[in-house]
Amino acid sequence: IKILDARFLTTAVEPKGYPTGVATPEVAFVGRSNVGKSSMINALAGRKKLVRVSNTPGRTRTINFFDVDVEREGKRHTVRFADLPGYGFAKVSKTERSSWQSMITTYLEKRRDLKVVVSIIDAEVGPTSDDFQTLDYLQEAKRPILVVATKIDRLPKARRKPRLQSLAEELSLPREAVLSFSATEKLGLDEVWDALLSAVS
Ligand code: GDP
Repeated sequence: IKILDARFLTTAVEPKGYPTGVATPEVAFVGRSNVGKSSMINALAGRKKLVRVSNTPGRTRTINFFDVDVEREGKRHTVRFADLPGYGFAKVSKTERSSWQSMITTYLEKRRDLKVVVSIIDAEVGPTSDDFQTLDYLQEAKRPILVVATKIDRLPKARRKPRLQSLAEELSLPREAVLSFSATEKLGLDEVWDALLSAVS
């Protein structure tokens, strides 16, 4: 995979703010705050600061859209990324939580060009109850899901494969549906891009 270009498009809260124009296949990224979502998007876009890596968990309260151009086997593809706000940050009020929920559910129900939702799980921590809830919701909404276990660098090499196996079991997914990733060590980039391109084309 060769990453050619990446650009920020817009920030939106409601459907009227979503990007319009030429239909572009879209991939959405979800995960709990601090899971490493911004770092993953930056790594997949081949950029250091396309998305701001936050020190304050739960900062992003909007959906951010980006277009990324890549080349695989001589063919050029443009994939749109939708960075959904992180969940599971304990310190939010009930009102904030419900506005977050409606932003996400509206997006997931309405977005026509959404091809796959990447559910990011911390490889070391494993799925949280919020992760399970999100995955249940996505399954109900009949959205294709790709689970990516990030921060895999934090596990000793010998524990990585067994961890992916147990994650797949915990999540009741086939083993191939769980990929591993590390933004810091740039592991799994090609595998995730391959899965994204298969999902969008
Ligand atoms: P977000 O809140 O989900 O967008 O998470 P960030 O991308 O801001 O990352 C949260 C924290 O995890 C930061 O301190 C990152 O440096 C760290 N982090 C992100 N990805 C990785 C990774 O693959 N490996 C390790 N070891 N740390 C990571």
